[in-house]
Amino acid sequence: MPDASTPRFRHAVVTGGAGFLGSHLCTTLLAEGTAVTCVDDFCTGQAGNVAHLTGHPAFALLPADVTEPFDAPGGPGAAGPPDLVLHFASPASPADYLRLPMHTLETGSLGTRNALALARRHGARFVLASTSEAYGDPQQHPQSETYWGNVNPVGPRSVYDEAKRFGEALTTAEAGAHGTDTGIVRLFNTYGPRMRGHDGRAVPTFVRQALADEPLTVTGDGRQTRSLAYVDDTVRGILAMAASDLRGPVNIGNPAEITMLDLARKIIALAGSGSAVRFVERPTDDPAVRCPDITLACGKLQWEPCVDADEGLARTIHWFREHAAA
Ligand code: NAD
Repeated sequence: MPDASTPRFRHAVVTGGAGFLGSHLCTTLLAEGTAVTCVDDFCTGQAGNVAHLTGHPAFALLPADVTEPFDAPGGPGAAGPPDLVLHFASPASPADYLRLPMHTLETGSLGTRNALALARRHGARFVLASTSEAYGDPQQHPQSETYWGNVNPVGPRSVYDEAKRFGEALTTAEAGAHGTDTGIVRLFNTYGPRMRGHDGRAVPTFVRQALADEPLTVTGDGRQTRSLAYVDDTVRGILAMAASDLRGPVNIGNPAEITMLDLARKIIALAGSGSAVRFVERPTDDPAVRCPDITLACGKLQWEPCVDADEGLARTIHWFREHAAA
């Protein structure tokens, strides 16, 4: 594990750095001694997510919409031009991207183009945050990187899924056309501190409801599965990908699969809540199963998740409890 005396990168630009994953990436990179420019338009992110970094001499916050060209030539603390661009800007929860359909498509297309141009201009390594949603409602299980997916191009989720798939195509073309050093990670569901209780994703929704002793709203019959990774594991995988020369795509996720009903029951138990479960309508095109094949990441990045659901959920519940109290 690198530390501040041997940083892997001099200056990282993190688009979407004030979001859930982006803010954890900024924090970890700074702790490793990398200067960080966080670029965010706050459409779903929050300044509070990076408030603990404000004032750090190697941290700069650049409020900007990446669908317009942007640059970070000097870097905080005269770090110099970026040698790493992590492109994480994008609405990510279904509630957000259904509310922001055009912005989601433009961030995945124009935003990815502008982030790639930044990396090319400075000769930086570029990593695209893609998603397991690129597999759509999968007909192969678990999903390996060679599976092309099953996406409805005109369904309600398509604004996100197809934006990410276009982003992957653009990133791949960029490497071929311009020789830019690019990598693609396909992230599976990740949870942890700094998620928003009302962002619509299962873990923060269930935790918020459990802590308020409200019924946990499980969609459908609750037998659909997800594979949930704790944020520290996902961040470690992303940074291993950044430090490699792999193009990917590479799956980063935790293969431990759980049904939504079991997840709800586990959160009720861990929170010591008196909540019941209430079944509600399942959204259109909601995938039935989701589980990463992580053979590639294990072999090429020597990465695998190490935080199990009980531990990760306990940490998350603790954060939500403290946060609500604050
Ligand atoms: P998030 O909504 O918390 O963070 C996204 C950030 O991007 C926010 O701070 C938002 O304000 C910013 N943003 C969006 N559009 C922008 C634009 N045009 N210009 C500048 N900033 C913009 O979501 P997250 O869960 O942290 O996801 C981060 C990235 O990881 C996304 O690209 C998402 O697709 C990907 N991802 C996340 C998960 C997960 O489980 N969290 C899974 C797969 C992929």
